[in-house]
Amino acid sequence: MSNLSKDSETLICQSQCGDIKRPASAFIALPGRQSTLGTGLTISRVLPNAKLRMVGPWCFLDHIGPVTFSPTDMIDVAPHPHIGLQTATWMIDGELLHKDSLGYTQVIRPGQLNLMTAGHGISHSEESPEGRSPNVHGVQFWIALPKQKKDIAAEFEHFPQLPMRQYSRSFFTLFIGEHDGMESPATAHSPILGAEIVSPDADAFALPLETSFEYALMVIAGEAELDIDGETNALVPNSLYYLGGSRDQLMLKTKDNTRVMLIGGEPFAEPVSLWWNFVGHSNEDIHQAKQDWENNDRFGEVKAYTKGTRLSAPELAPTTRMR
Ligand code: MN
Repeated sequence: MSNLSKDSETLICQSQCGDIKRPASAFIALPGRQSTLGTGLTISRVLPNAKLRMVGPWCFLDHIGPVTFSPTDMIDVAPHPHIGLQTATWMIDGELLHKDSLGYTQVIRPGQLNLMTAGHGISHSEESPEGRSPNVHGVQFWIALPKQKKDIAAEFEHFPQLPMRQYSRSFFTLFIGEHDGMESPATAHSPILGAEIVSPDADAFALPLETSFEYALMVIAGEAELDIDGETNALVPNSLYYLGGSRDQLMLKTKDNTRVMLIGGEPFAEPVSLWWNFVGHSNEDIHQAKQDWENNDRFGEVKAYTKGTRLSAPELAPTTRMR
C-alpha cells in the first residue's frame, strides 16, 4: 500500500523516541487510528504512534479491512516508490495482486507472504485481481532496514508456505525471523520475528519469548486475553499492545476464531526518518528519493500496471518532527 497520510513532515523514529523507554518490560495499549480509503476500504494504523514509533525494526503497521466489496469496487493503488524498508503483506481473507518495477506480478492469498525489499529503490502497484473474492482482510507491515543495508538491491519474495507449529490447539505461523527453533525462509536484515497465531477454538497457552527482543501483539479477529505481570488484560481488536522486552514467555487466552499478530525484534538502535513511502537514515536520503521519483529516475517502471498514472509524492516540509 501507499501511505496516503497528508502529513508533509518527516517523522523521526527510534527506540528513544516517543514516551516509552526500552527495553524494560511493559504493557501499554496503543489504539489504532482508523481511516477509509477510496471505495470504503477501512485501514487501522497502529504504528507509528505518538507514544511508540517502532517495535524492533517494525516501523509501520496497517490492519486492512475486513471489508466486503461490491463487485464493481476494488483496490487500485497505482505505482509508487519505496526506499530503505521491506513491506510484508499477509492476507487473512481475499487476494491482492502485486506488480513491481523488477517485473514481478504476484497474487497473494491467505497463509502466504509477499515480502518486498525496497533497499535503494523499487516501485510497485497493488490491485484486486480479476475474479477476486469480494472480501479483503489483511495486514501490511513495514520493516526498517539497518543503515548498512539501506542501499541494497531491491528484491521481491513470495512464500506460498511458511513454518507452522501448534501450541496447544492454536496454530503459530512464522512469516519472518526466528522463534523457538523455527526459522522463516523470508530474508531478514536484523533480528526480527513476525507471526500469526490462529485459534479455531477457545484456547489457553504459553508462548516462549526471546528475552533480548521487544514484542507487541495485535488482535485482528476474535477476542483474546493476556495474563501479564500478575494481571489478566482483555485485548481489543485494532489496538497494538506493546510488551517491551526482558520476557521469556507470554500467556495467551483466546476465544473461538481468534487471530493475533505477534511482532518483535531487537530494539532498533538507529534513528530512521519516515516520510511518505520512504524510510531514510538522513534528510538527504528522503529529499533525494523524492527528487528521483519526480524525475522518473531510480525507481524503474511498473510495466505490468496498465490502469493509469503513478502516484505523486506529497509536499515535503523542510522541518522534521521529533517528540
Ligand atoms: Mn507500497
